[in-house]
Amino acid sequence: MIGVYGGTFDPVHVGHLRTALEIKEVLQLEKILFVPCAQPPHRKAPVICPESRARMLELAVRTQPGFHVERLEIEREGYSYTVDTLASLRKQYEDKILCLILGMDAFLGLPQWNRWQSLFDLSHLVVMCRPGTRKMFPEQLERVVDQRQTLTAATLRTRRNGSIFFQQVTQLDISATEIRNSIKQGYSPRFLLPENVWAMIQELKLYQ
Ligand code: ATP
Repeated sequence: MIGVYGGTFDPVHVGHLRTALEIKEVLQLEKILFVPCAQPPHRKAPVICPESRARMLELAVRTQPGFHVERLEIEREGYSYTVDTLASLRKQYEDKILCLILGMDAFLGLPQWNRWQSLFDLSHLVVMCRPGTRKMFPEQLERVVDQRQTLTAATLRTRRNGSIFFQQVTQLDISATEIRNSIKQGYSPRFLLPENVWAMIQELKLYQ
């Protein structure tokens, strides 16, 4: 089983990396593909170009076995639709089960995604959530959760796609937005992101 972790990663931080590691271990994933998007359709364009965001990610995952950067959205250019990405990965990893990993915030916005119902034909969804939260979903999502939720990680291996699994992860209140803001204001974001990523940001004077 392979995890697919998409995002803007503008920049990548320990909130992304720690949660990815927890998901990898709990679900016993063979690997996690970090997919930096070129241009997200639902939010403002990232501050830094796709190439630099991908390079920061590559530095961040370098020492972690099973973490890889997948550049297909960057190479495709234009809007990055997850459904297209999963369709490509489906072909590339014909005999594997794919799990799309996303935060609860991203999951709540799912009905706004392009062809979102088709995501379930291509992969499972693994939603990272806060321990002990009662999940309230908009009606459209509630129905999908009712139909598709599985309560055990092991069940994900018994089907090729189409299930939703909620996994509690350690909550680290870190966001790329706050990191960008601190840098802009002259504060150090050190220890919120990998040391080599911070070094690259300083060297190229990014986010200033
Ligand atoms: P921004 O502040 O620019 O929105 P972000 O780090 O929240 O940045 P992305 O890089 O696009 O946003 O996030 C990619 C994925 O990582 C999303 O699914 C998001 O929910 C998840 N994520 C981001 N930060 C955390 C965190 N601290 N803990 C857990 N998941 C996170």
